[in-house]
Amino acid sequence: MKKYIMTMDEGTTSTRTILVDHDGQIVAQYNKEFEQIFPQPGWVEHNAKEIWEAQKETIKEVLKEAGASFDDIETIGITNQRETTVVWDKETGEPIYNAIVWQCRRTSDMVDELVAKLDGEGKSDLIPSKTGLKPDAYFSATKINWILDHVKGARERAKNGELLFGTIDTWIIWNLTGGKVHATDYTNASRTLLFNIHTLDWDEELLELFDIPSCMLPEVKKSSDDFGMSTYGIPITGVAGDQQSSLFGQCCFDKGDVKNTYGTGGFLMMNTGSEPIKSKSGLLTTMAAFTDEPEYALEGSVFVSGSAIQWLRDELKIIDSAPESEEAALSVEDSGGVYVVPAFTGLGAPHWNQDARGMILGITRGTSRNHIIRATLESLAYQTNDVLGAMKEDLGESVDDINVDGGASQNNYLVQFQSDISGIEVVRPKLTETTGIGAAYLAGLYSGFWKSKEELKSHMEIDKEFTPSMSDDEVKDLISGWNKAVKCVEEFAK
Ligand code: ADP
Repeated sequence: MKKYIMTMDEGTTSTRTILVDHDGQIVAQYNKEFEQIFPQPGWVEHNAKEIWEAQKETIKEVLKEAGASFDDIETIGITNQRETTVVWDKETGEPIYNAIVWQCRRTSDMVDELVAKLDGEGKSDLIPSKTGLKPDAYFSATKINWILDHVKGARERAKNGELLFGTIDTWIIWNLTGGKVHATDYTNASRTLLFNIHTLDWDEELLELFDIPSCMLPEVKKSSDDFGMSTYGIPITGVAGDQQSSLFGQCCFDKGDVKNTYGTGGFLMMNTGSEPIKSKSGLLTTMAAFTDEPEYALEGSVFVSGSAIQWLRDELKIIDSAPESEEAALSVEDSGGVYVVPAFTGLGAPHWNQDARGMILGITRGTSRNHIIRATLESLAYQTNDVLGAMKEDLGESVDDINVDGGASQNNYLVQFQSDISGIEVVRPKLTETTGIGAAYLAGLYSGFWKSKEELKSHMEIDKEFTPSMSDDEVKDLISGWNKAVKCVEEFAK
């Protein structure tokens, strides 16, 4: 058996390669940022070739850092920013347009038109019932369509089988295998609006609706599977979208297990086992990464989480670094009745209000910098609590404990406050690079590097556990204040 699993982690702003050893420890990692292209307000693109070049560089550098060679690598795992769309020429491997990034809103009108049409035909539930998603520009389908509409001759070429579509995982697999394998995994496929999460196949009716030829689509495999041999002579055996990979990396293998990531945005995800639970309260139903039988997840995304702390640092300039927010928050007894609702780009789950914008409420003459910092940190927890509330509604039972990761999970004040207002146990593992670890686990389980999920669980070391310590009355008061603040934001957006 070889020494390491190599994970390629394709993020939104950077690409990273990490080496993971038998004990599930990261022995080396290397990161390279790539360009964010903003051709118009609200539009976001990446150069897919630049991502591949950055990927190759990080592979070289990480091996150098570890003093390792390809001979030491057992297998490759891939995790990626989801939904981002690449279309390329099957013969030359050249993308015909930049990658359209998940954040890009250019196809919002297209989606609005489609929704109006479906509503008119009494088919409002067609897309949610098949895909588990809401029709939104966020997902891949309308992005593919935009490329086919705007690159000359593309639609014809696509119909003739000359063009291929892929999310970033598929693009990396294609390049890693020298153009031999065109494949994705269930978790990534389930974010396209084209994949039926019940039949586990591309859906003919949706392909027709979005006018996308099926010959463009990749083969869909389990997240732990044979994705072909890379030109480095190392097989690729694990692939999952970033949030699903982090759920797996947190060892949330069982039905009811929940993780929350406090990164730039916030992502709460629950493993719902073999059952796809249809949300009545604004959450998405999606595929979880699985090794045997299909597993599903419920997901709620918060648009602004850790980035609210960046805002305190970069725009308000009232802190010099994100970690400093903890000390500032603890320097006051409470938030002094201040609420910050960081709806900078609208409100995500469960409110879904595109027009909402941020507000600071409850300011008095005595309000200080520290109150605003504390209220901003608390807003990350309130937003997560709202998503937990939606999960409770969908499941008919409450969530008792969650695992956390992401940059802001290092903030003890924030995590304790989460535990307090949500009345839940919160576990923070020592290793919070769970996205990269998840893909390594998926790859290593397939190749036999690790024998079982139980073995993976034995790697899990807890850094800190947080238990609720606030009185019920106080929790009730605080949440009632937050609810009023969100109402104000929604009112202002009308
Ligand atoms: P991403 O993977 O989305 O780029 P990360 O998981 O690296 O994000 O988290 C980065 C975010 O976490 C930043 O927005 C930063 O402001 C926030 N952050 C990092 N450390 C802290 C901290 N100690 N307290 C609060 N926020 C933090």
